Amino acid sequence: MTFTRSSSGESSVRVAVIGAGMAGITCALTLARAGQHVTVFEKSRGYGGRMATRHTAFGGFDHGAQYFTVRDARFALAIQTASEWIVPWSASSVRVLDALGHTLPSQAPSHQAREAHYVAAPGMNALVRAWAQPLADAGHVHLNTRVQRISPDPVKAGGWQLHTDDPTDAQAQQVFGGFDRVLIATPHPQALGLLQASGLDQADSIAQPLTQALSVPTVAPCWTLMLAFPQAMQPDLPSFGPQWNAARSTHHRISWLARENSKPRREHIERWTVQASPAWSQEHVNDTPERVAAKLRRAFAEVTGIHAEPTHAEVHRWLYAQTQTPLGQAYVWEAAAGLGLCGDWCLGHRIENAYISGLELAQATLGKAAD
Ligand SMILES: Cc1cc2nc3c(=O)[nH]c(=O)nc-3n(C[C@H](O)[C@H](O)[C@H](O)COP(=O)(O)OP(=O)(O)OC[C@H]3O[C@@H](n4cnc5c(N)ncnc54)[C@H](O)[C@@H]3O)c2cc1C
Repeated sequence: MTFTRSSSGESSVRVAVIGAGMAGITCALTLARAGQHVTVFEKSRGYGGRMATRHTAFGGFDHGAQYFTVRDARFALAIQTASEWIVPWSASSVRVLDALGHTLPSQAPSHQAREAHYVAAPGMNALVRAWAQPLADAGHVHLNTRVQRISPDPVKAGGWQLHTDDPTDAQAQQVFGGFDRVLIATPHPQALGLLQASGLDQADSIAQPLTQALSVPTVAPCWTLMLAFPQAMQPDLPSFGPQWNAARSTHHRISWLARENSKPRREHIERWTVQASPAWSQEHVNDTPERVAAKLRRAFAEVTGIHAEPTHAEVHRWLYAQTQTPLGQAYVWEAAAGLGLCGDWCLGHRIENAYISGLELAQATLGKAAD
């Protein structure tokens, strides 16, 4: 894809977007399509952020976001353009269980209980990766590139430069300059850390309104357990585990369980992703992975009745998983400073919130009201 130049002369505007999750890529793509020169910086080696897929010898695990729902017409339109990577996943199978695995009546409002659930395929990271492809093809994405701090560009009045390193190679430090705008699309604690490391958190700083906004949201961590049971494929085994594929749980350790192989276009090996509750994850945030895995495996057995030894078991800790208190506005844009913020935390804890936030920040910098 070639990006068209805008007739408004915006093609000369150079924008750095920090973060290649849903918010960052939506923002970057919207600006690139409007003719701006956009460069994306991402500290990981891939796209999608918390829309993540862990590949193992037994198949993939969506160890971050599990599925998404669509409530906003703009998001609905966007995913229509990506039908190749999006498939519905049976919502009717999501139930609520007590600590012993008994089904409880759902508390969800009926319109939400009925709404369609979608997953990206072959893994949750596929959607953002697909949307990022035109930017990557144009050489406008730097992966494995963590932005450590930003500073005024010494050769461009009012401009910014980014100081980066490579998390896999401490020697690989670089400076990228000449940006008119820097848009930060990371979880809010990481955005705040970046402003602090840049000395932009001071009371008299041009970025003060951003720092102020970043003090509002709160976020909870999440420990995620991934289990594979290839032995469940044996033909003489009549059934393995519960009859349901996804459930919310009131168990004090676990809030969500999903059978990965029940999702469309996934490998068939029996695999489960288990997410600890926000409160338990917070309480055990500094526990060792071994200790967390042992505790979550016991809880998993209690809820599912699966006591078999998994062939593969690992845990992942998301430090900034789920927004508990959102900012309450879609983005933050300080035109005078050329600095902006977006991410799910502006509006909530859902993939769609990240999409809307990234879209509206891009539109605001283009001087367009959200429609
Ligand atoms: C365990 C879990 C389960 C979830 N389940 C669901 C679900 O079922 N449904 C749903 O809708 N949502 C779910 N979510 C939430 C959903 O994943 C998020 O709302 C959405 O993915 C957030 O997108 P984002 O772009 O705002 O942030 P992120 O996806 O976090 O993207 C931010 C990106 O910034 C990068 N970054 C950070 N700091 C730097 C830096 N200094 N330099 C360069 N790059 C940097 C990160 O590596 C990351 O790629 C879940 C999240 C988690 C963790």
